[in-house]
Amino acid sequence: MKKLLAIACLAIYLLSCNSPAANESPSQSATDTELTEFISKIKAVDNHAHVTTTDPDDRGFDALPLDGLGNIELPARVRPESPNWLATAKAVYGLTATELNEKAIKDLSDTVANVMKQKGEKFPEWALDQAGIEVMLANRISMGPGLSSPRFRWVSYMDALLFPLSTKTEAAVTPDREKLFPLEDQLLKKYLTDLHITKLPATLDEYLKQVVTATLEAQKKGGCVAVKFEAAYLRSLDFENPSLQSAGEVYLKNVNGGVPPHEKYKLLQDYLFRYIAHEAGRLGMAVHIHSFPGAGNYFVAQDCDPLLLEPVFNDPELRNTKFVIIHGGGTFSQHTSAMLWKPNVYADISLLTLIWTPDQLAAVLKDWLSQFPEKVIFGTDASSFGPGLGWEMSAWLASNTARQALSMALSEMLRSNEISRSRAKEIATMVMRTNAGKLYTLSVK
Ligand SMILES: [Zn+2]
Repeated sequence: MKKLLAIACLAIYLLSCNSPAANESPSQSATDTELTEFISKIKAVDNHAHVTTTDPDDRGFDALPLDGLGNIELPARVRPESPNWLATAKAVYGLTATELNEKAIKDLSDTVANVMKQKGEKFPEWALDQAGIEVMLANRISMGPGLSSPRFRWVSYMDALLFPLSTKTEAAVTPDREKLFPLEDQLLKKYLTDLHITKLPATLDEYLKQVVTATLEAQKKGGCVAVKFEAAYLRSLDFENPSLQSAGEVYLKNVNGGVPPHEKYKLLQDYLFRYIAHEAGRLGMAVHIHSFPGAGNYFVAQDCDPLLLEPVFNDPELRNTKFVIIHGGGTFSQHTSAMLWKPNVYADISLLTLIWTPDQLAAVLKDWLSQFPEKVIFGTDASSFGPGLGWEMSAWLASNTARQALSMALSEMLRSNEISRSRAKEIATMVMRTNAGKLYTLSVK
């Protein structure tokens, strides 16, 4: 308790004077002090993160790890030289350096290694405590040492199941996709091996039952609370509604190694997407969809617009499935706002909490929260950004940025008498904690 209080005080201190993110925002002084303090103490549920296990060789943190794409452009706030990392290193590891030069990075890496050694399998839970996060949804291929329930809950990957046929034509579209599709081919092989299946079933009907449903049911049994699509890295999010017959014909024709033309393959992918979404709903797992114009130097931004998902969201057959727009659509945040009208659609602020400034995020939050406060969910997208900048650092930075932004947005709504003080606190708790708690039926109050 005492430690929690100390963390809370540190957070307030950083919010008020020490964080470069706070300095960069003129409207920070306009935040309500009591509300800021209240928000700094909420124990959060993080909707989306790529946490690593305590195994140093862990590679299960992403189905499409972006380090395979070479040197990709990164926004300024998460580049290694960003002052935000310095403030984070001070808060998490007590680093006293005044700039993150080579020596400071070395000192930081040594400190991290020491803390990891000292904490052992408790390191991930210790890292959550630093960031004020009670439960983290781990978007991973599988869970592993250090990541046990109830602090860590599993979100699996689904894209591999969309591509049972040769992905040669699909991969040729961009240099990034040439690198990413083979990873999905590998993951599908893993899923088949897990099911003790050595060869793809002959018909689509058999594939649906023996592979897709069987994988989803096994993941649900394994503790999965949601399934994730990174499809926007691989194709457009315009999933149409083809018939089982037309999708089945494409499968049947190519299951033995044929390379379907894109228009034909898309019919099968679209059918599979909707089938998976339906099954996830039946099993009580939410569907997470990456919607953010990045990352990668060849990412096709227009393909990730959340408006493309409207026919899926409007499908009466899929109303039992809860969809979460992961990263809130990024620069398409107004389109996300339009999608929040759908009763089964939510948005998280993961990644935005890392790469946007608090006032950029506050402006979007104000739009969403003034309309659908029960649909907006905190998230970090915590992942490693290089030596000394592990997932625990980005978790802290994102948590701190989210709390600043939330405080700004709600203070403004409070000042304009749009909401009362008690409602502001209630909305803050919903965004940081209880909206996710309800969505995934976690035992958080
Ligand atoms: Zn992510």
